[in-house]
Amino acid sequence: MTLLRQNRELKRLGIWNWSLPAFAGKLPDGRNYNACPSAGICAQACYARNGTYLFPQVKARHQENLRWTMDDLPGWQHTMLDELSHKRFIDAWVRIHDSGDFYSRAYLTAWLEIMRARQRTRFYAYTKEVAAFRDLVEPNPPRNFWWVYSYGGTQDSTLDPTVDRVADVFPDEQSITAAGWHSQEESDLLAVLGPTPVGIPANNIAHFKARQAGRRWSRWQAGVEAARAARRTGTQPTTAAGDRSGASGDPR
Ligand code: SF4
Repeated sequence: MTLLRQNRELKRLGIWNWSLPAFAGKLPDGRNYNACPSAGICAQACYARNGTYLFPQVKARHQENLRWTMDDLPGWQHTMLDELSHKRFIDAWVRIHDSGDFYSRAYLTAWLEIMRARQRTRFYAYTKEVAAFRDLVEPNPPRNFWWVYSYGGTQDSTLDPTVDRVADVFPDEQSITAAGWHSQEESDLLAVLGPTPVGIPANNIAHFKARQAGRRWSRWQAGVEAARAARRTGTQPTTAAGDRSGASGDPR
């Protein structure tokens, strides 16, 4: 079985892709999983919970990818290393997760070991696993790994857009420009190589756009957290506390 694939969009850019199922679900054997433990509002408008991602054979492949990493991480790692030793991956790009995230520290560590062992391949990822990256990646990142922290997760408030490379999902291109952010629409690699902060136009999926209601994801997430805090304290929600992406020029 081939582990790394190319969908139409990433093939155009020469990028290979590794996918897990998005967010939470149940494996065929009945076990529950959450492949995006720090997902927040993003799970309500996640492109990978729509369209072709829901085709039974696609969903089954992604779930099998996850099951393999859960049940036999060393065996999966060995197979991934073997595949990446093929010459087609020399100087190629691999996007780790067009859906899913680094759902455990052991899994993230396995990827870091893979990257260090395959230095001729370049890897990149979006992630909401900020704390795990602070501890395991930031102190000594593999030199062939680029990442961007994406808003819309439960760890948003720990991001500092003046220091961290961050990306936010905007309602459209115009709102990205108006905020002074930098669209990655032309090439997904701009999310990690282009100017920061990074703006991503929302996918044209009507029910997701309706939920987003013209907000960028960082503000949507901050609003949800402010409302939750207000419920806890019995006060009125104030300006979205923790929305650090509000100012123009700040840094999905
Ligand atoms: S973390 Fe990414 S893949 Fe997971 S639910 Fe959020 S947007 Fe979807």
